[in-house]
Parts: sequence; C-alpha cells; structure tokens
Amino acid sequence: MSEATEGIQPISFDADDISRIERVLGLRHLHTLKDYVIFEHVDAGGIRKLRPAIPLDSTYEILQAIARGAEKMEEYEGWIDPGKGFAEFEIGQGASSPFTSRNADRFNFENRPCSHTHKGEPPFVHDKDRNFMHPLIRVTSGDSSTCIEISPNSALCTPLLPWDSDSRQVRSQTTLKIFLDGETEKSELLRRSRELANSFIFELNARHGVLYSLRPKWERPSYRRRTTAVSNAVRFPKTPVPDNVATLFSIPNDFAMRGNHTLSYLSYYQILEHYLPIAHRREAVKKVRRLLRSLDFDEEKDSSILQILSSVERSHGASESDQLRTLIEECVPEIRLQEFFSFDYGGHFGKQGPISGVPVIHSKSGESLASQVAKRVYALRNRIVHAKDDVRYAESKVLLPVSYEALRLYPDIELLRVLAIEVIVSNR
Ligand SMILES: [Zn+2]
Repeated sequence: MSEATEGIQPISFDADDISRIERVLGLRHLHTLKDYVIFEHVDAGGIRKLRPAIPLDSTYEILQAIARGAEKMEEYEGWIDPGKGFAEFEIGQGASSPFTSRNADRFNFENRPCSHTHKGEPPFVHDKDRNFMHPLIRVTSGDSSTCIEISPNSALCTPLLPWDSDSRQVRSQTTLKIFLDGETEKSELLRRSRELANSFIFELNARHGVLYSLRPKWERPSYRRRTTAVSNAVRFPKTPVPDNVATLFSIPNDFAMRGNHTLSYLSYYQILEHYLPIAHRREAVKKVRRLLRSLDFDEEKDSSILQILSSVERSHGASESDQLRTLIEECVPEIRLQEFFSFDYGGHFGKQGPISGVPVIHSKSGESLASQVAKRVYALRNRIVHAKDDVRYAESKVLLPVSYEALRLYPDIELLRVLAIEVIVSNR
C-alpha cells in the first residue's frame, strides 16, 4: 500500500519521467490531477477506453523503482526489482480463503526477524482509508535471508483502475512478494522467485486448501479480428451439421469457455478428427479407382492385384498426421489457406512467433500450405494433449491451459476455425 501523501513535498514530474513511466506501463499520459495521474491505453482495439488512474505517490514510487532498474516481468503480471532482490507477482485467488479475521488465531506463520522492510505484520494489515483488514501471510526462511509474503500490493502492482471521484473504489489487490537477501542479478532473481512462488502456492493449496495462482501476462493482440469474410445476407440454412460437430463448433464461442484457449483449440481439432476417417476412405477409394482405370491394369496379373492390395495397406497404416494432411488437401481449397496467411498476425506463424516447438508456416517454401498446416496443427495438438514425459514428444514441452503461450494461441485457433468450417461445408 502506498503511504499517505500528507506532509510530503508536492510531487511533480518532468517530461522524461512521464515518458519513462509510459514506456514501462505501456500507457499514454493524459493529465495529472491533484492526487492521481491519469493515463489511457495506447491501443484499446475498439474496446471502450477505461482511463487508468495511478495515485500520485505510487507513480512517484514506480519512477524511483524504474530508476534503480526495476522492470515488469515478461511472462507474468508482476515486477522484479533486482536492486532490492525483490519480486512481486499479481495473483488470482480462489473463492474462499480460510485466512479471515474469524480464523485469525487458528494460524501461525513461520516468521523470523529479517533485514527487509515489511509494511505490516501477520496476520492482518489495516486499511485505514476503508477501515478494512487485509490478510497478510508471511513466512521467513530458516537463515532469515528470504521472506515470502501475500499482502496488498506495493506501488509497483497498483491496479490500473479508472479514476473515481468518490474514491470509494477498492484500489488494491493481493500480490505475492518475494524478498531475497538484498541485490540479486536479474535472471537469478526471476528463477529464485518463480521457484519460491511455485512451492508456496502449491503448499498453500495442498496443506491449507487456499487457492492462489500466478497471473500470466495478457496482452491484447491488435490483430484479433476475424480474417474470414462476413456475409450480409442471412439465409435459410443449407448446411447440415452433425449433432456432435455442432456442439464442438459452438464450444469455443461459449461465454463460459472464455479464457480457455487450449480447450477452444481442441474443440476445433475434434471436428477435424470427426472427419478424418471419411476423407481418408474417400482418398483410398480414389486411389484404388485410379489403379483400376489405369491402362496397364490387368485383373489376370498378380502384380496388378498386389498394387491394389499395397495401396489399401498403405492407406490403412496412415498416421493421424498423414490423415490430417489428406483431410486438408481434400476439403480446404488452397486459395482459402493463401487468403488466411496473407494477413500478418504480427509474425505469429513465423520463426519469431510466440508458440515454440511447432513448425512455422512459409507461404513460399515450396511445400504445399496444406502439408505445412497439417504438420503445425498436429504438432500443436500434441503439445496440448501429451504429458511432458511421453517419450514420443520428448522434444516438445507441454502447452498448459493457462500460460504465456496459451494466451497467444488466437491466430492458431482462428486457423483451426477456418479449417473446421471448410471441412464441415465440404462434407455436407
Ligand atoms: Zn523479511
């Protein structure tokens, strides 16, 4: 919590201060009121612009932290302050917590005297402005060097809420703080604080039934728009859609599924899976028919019959990724894929894209788009469904439902949606 500003010299910022804070927070400065600095989002992407306001004293503290080298974390919502050996994670919280004032005396915390400056002692910190008791959980390592604390945010993690003239709004959030033994090199600080946060959150859950989670960083992609053309003519429907396919297709749009990107991905994938055998049979029949019609086919000759046999056998042994390629080749016009990849997606499908361990898409690579897409779709599906210790996928790590990568899946989900639509339509 920020301390009250009374008695402190009036704070003012110069243009450098403003641009420094704009850069770190990714916001644009609008104006400064008496107690608040008002910002706006640089690209609100058509969404109603909430103008975040940061209390003046917090802004000042953030500036001081930036000056000594503090920065926002890349993968999680939170800050690291190497100069102080301090890290702060924003956390999500389960519905109920046993750490309430009613149960205060039931808990004791492994605390020791330490060298850090802490704002309050467990189990509670009093919010004077709103006369409210916030839980404060803190434990200290055996050698007194390290503290882990869950408590109201410091200035760094000030929630970006719009300014409220009544100032009745809750202007704090609970964060998890790691205090190491003084100045710590950046990568070591990140590694150590992640490690401690993971252990602590696990034990709070397993031993005390308290659900906390770190919040992966969420950036709104600016290209988040439908790349398929939208028709203005609403017609009486002509596309028959099997029951289970209809359900799978609606899941990703389901309000309740919002935020579950890997599940959206798998729903669309299951639609493709539904059609794999059909396309596969169609392809096998086509091949046999081609053999039967070929000029040198002779039903009296064993070699001709064997040709058909081996063609059938080959199609029988086709792997899921081969079947997927066949499905895409059969059902999705190449022009649709070209159209899809003519958009930029911020380099999402390229070498520098955010999703690791999956093939990139190169429209000029010489390999057909259908084949490249099949490989990527299948590899990504494997990363979502296979556990890390599956030897067949040892080289690709599992893609977790709530992770840096999952939050950036959107273009891949959109690609799968396009494939699903084409497959459904071509199989009516
Ligand atoms: Zn401490």
